Amino acid sequence: MNENFDREHLWHPYTSTSNPLPVYKVERAEGAEIILEGGRLLVDGMSSWWCAIHGYNHPVLNAAAQDQLQKMSHVMFGGLTHDPAIELGRLLLKIAPPSMSKIFYADSGSVAVEVAMKMAVQYQYSTGHHEKTNFVTIRCGYHGDTWNAMSVCDPVTGMHGLFGSALPVRFFVPSPSSRFDGEWNPDDIRPLQDTIEAHHEELAALILEPVVQGAGGMRFYHPEYIRQAAKLCREHGILLIFDEIATGFGRTGKLFAWEHAGVEPDIMCIGKALTGGYMTFSAVLASEPVADGISDNPPHAFMHGPTFMGNPLACSVAKASTELLLGQDWQSRVRAIENQLRCELAPVSAFRAVNDVRVLGAIGVIEVKEPVDMAFMQRRFVDEGVWVRPFGRLVYVMPPYVITQAQLSRLTSALVKIVSEL
Ligand code: PMP
Repeated sequence: MNENFDREHLWHPYTSTSNPLPVYKVERAEGAEIILEGGRLLVDGMSSWWCAIHGYNHPVLNAAAQDQLQKMSHVMFGGLTHDPAIELGRLLLKIAPPSMSKIFYADSGSVAVEVAMKMAVQYQYSTGHHEKTNFVTIRCGYHGDTWNAMSVCDPVTGMHGLFGSALPVRFFVPSPSSRFDGEWNPDDIRPLQDTIEAHHEELAALILEPVVQGAGGMRFYHPEYIRQAAKLCREHGILLIFDEIATGFGRTGKLFAWEHAGVEPDIMCIGKALTGGYMTFSAVLASEPVADGISDNPPHAFMHGPTFMGNPLACSVAKASTELLLGQDWQSRVRAIENQLRCELAPVSAFRAVNDVRVLGAIGVIEVKEPVDMAFMQRRFVDEGVWVRPFGRLVYVMPPYVITQAQLSRLTSALVKIVSEL
């Protein structure tokens, strides 16, 4: 049986091989639905971890992949270039913060974060600041699973304890307490200010997920924090890196979350929904001064170049996905999802087991008081015909933008019902 092979030989994300969490076998997926083997339909609440904004099996994205396959799936990017990379680049620069002018294509979100961090260190090195090699960030962040990305993830919910001295030691300050839509508390910036003032000589960059902290806590914080943090960075020669891997492509109600604060970064990472969830791909955008700082000084080259850099298949699908998004009134779509989530999740805040309910853009979060039993909850959600994967104390959804009103109601009713049972 295939399921037995899976259980015995395949490692799934964050699971044990000796006692794996149950997995459900998918036959196909279509629009906002995942169809399990045997025919059971699940309304998708996860967009496959922020990615599948247009839903699954989309004819436009399928056509983009098929057209490109007829020409070439891949060629190396060292010494060669191609239209998919160029056309995607043109499109990305139109929608990126105006100060972004150079693009580095990478393989995944985590690799984009590695690249961004390397860029920051190499920029500082090349411009004569050899001591500026470390990073500062806020608690409750998540930036990926590779070495450096992991080093800037929340030290408690991340894997710092486990990997111990193998992990570079970064500066962490508390995550701002001011909520996105609440009042700004000026004390929130103090810990960052103190850390930057004390350690700026060793700091290459500040890395942040702007406004929405994803997998590290699903928190929505005040844009004023970003404005003040940016000012501190500028005053102390520290680069500002925005990780928009989860927040990009309309998820928070703006095309990119930096727009909530009106602050442009020096380096920005995008990924996930970049290809509409079709394949792994990411990009690191950099400002002219960052790129020039690296390029105009020895060794005159940015020291990174993955095998699958600029993969034409991924570039073609990314271009099609981005055009598909921009060619529709995505703002109204995301706003409609936001309004429906707000309205239909409102009763949950009165439940005994619930700490907080928050909604921003097409993201709905229920924070419960005690960590949930993931396997149990997962089965309950599947029984109710929806796909939701909670973790820790967070039960959350970020559905594909193509979800219908009826499908979203199905999702929220399941959330209300199951959370009421806790
Ligand atoms: N940064 C953020 C903000 C993310 O949410 C993620 C993935 N959850 C990553 C980086 C890492 O991306 P990937 O899993 O594609 O390596």
